[in-house]
Amino acid sequence: TGDDLDGKPSHFHALMMFTKVYKSLSLQQKFQVAMRSMAKHGRFLEDEMLVLHYVSDAGSQELGEKMLPELLLDATFRYEVVFHNVDALTEKLFPIVEAMQKHFSAGSGTYYSDAIFFLSVAMHRIMPAELKRIVQLDLDLKFRSNIRDLFQEFNHFPAEAVIGIAREMQPVYRHTFWQYRKENPKSYVGDPPPDGLPGFNSGVMLLNLDAMRHSTLYNQLLEPERVARLAEKYHFRGHLGDQDFFTMIGMEHRELFYQLSCSWNRQLCTWWREHGYGDVFQLYYHCDGPVHIYHGNCNTPIPDD
Ligand code: UDP
Ligand code: MN
Repeated sequence: TGDDLDGKPSHFHALMMFTKVYKSLSLQQKFQVAMRSMAKHGRFLEDEMLVLHYVSDAGSQELGEKMLPELLLDATFRYEVVFHNVDALTEKLFPIVEAMQKHFSAGSGTYYSDAIFFLSVAMHRIMPAELKRIVQLDLDLKFRSNIRDLFQEFNHFPAEAVIGIAREMQPVYRHTFWQYRKENPKSYVGDPPPDGLPGFNSGVMLLNLDAMRHSTLYNQLLEPERVARLAEKYHFRGHLGDQDFFTMIGMEHRELFYQLSCSWNRQLCTWWREHGYGDVFQLYYHCDGPVHIYHGNCNTPIPDD
């Protein structure tokens, strides 16, 4: 694979979690929509290359290898596909994220296999140093714009930012931070935009791996004692993995995050509207401007164009 993973600016790296896809028709359909729309709208320069990384098990890799050539038939750009074995990545990841899993995972125990839900958090320690930037994407997306434009957002990062991420568009963190908000009624934690801090959604993430490696603060925040201290301060108990971690440390250190526009991760899930938050829901759900990427989260159908 030689220069597959290199950091040349002519290479644009995107990564998707791609496990258990071989046994889920629903995931296969999402994969088709995501890749076809990426191919349809993607435009790159002649000497550029989109490198597509998939984190897979053997069965999903086999399926992916079979499906991708057809899904990307309309692509006018050069691309390369790299599969990463989920077990090999989990083995590297587990020691780094084990301690935080109890704060941000469902259930009571710490499951080894759940470590992969924290891949983005420690990607800078797992991927080779030549890989300087990567975009992590969910499978339940539909592109309406050129994915190359998403990579241009890296150029807007302020000096201290390590990750670019859009806000969460439901009041889920208003719920999670309920106790903290009660104790701190003047705080903006969990409040809606534009002034509040609604937390983050991990469906589309720009990871500046170089900046993550070089940020002393970010790496300190990965230490188990630091995570435990913040989780205690905010009474934080979540089950959404990496996005819970980023949301929690973002309340304390906003400077680490570049706020990606909601149009790059237009989430469609409305679950919390029907579960006690109908009165404030629109304040969170609202997103102005043309949609670049739809995110059909919680299995929400994505509108046709
Ligand atoms: N995913 C996967 N296999 C699974 C479930 C999820 O590879 O069995 C990946 C897939 O990339 C998916 C992402 O994990 O987009 C996050 O899950 P999902 O999008 O369903 O969560 P939501 O956005 O609805 O919270
Ligand atoms: Mn999703």
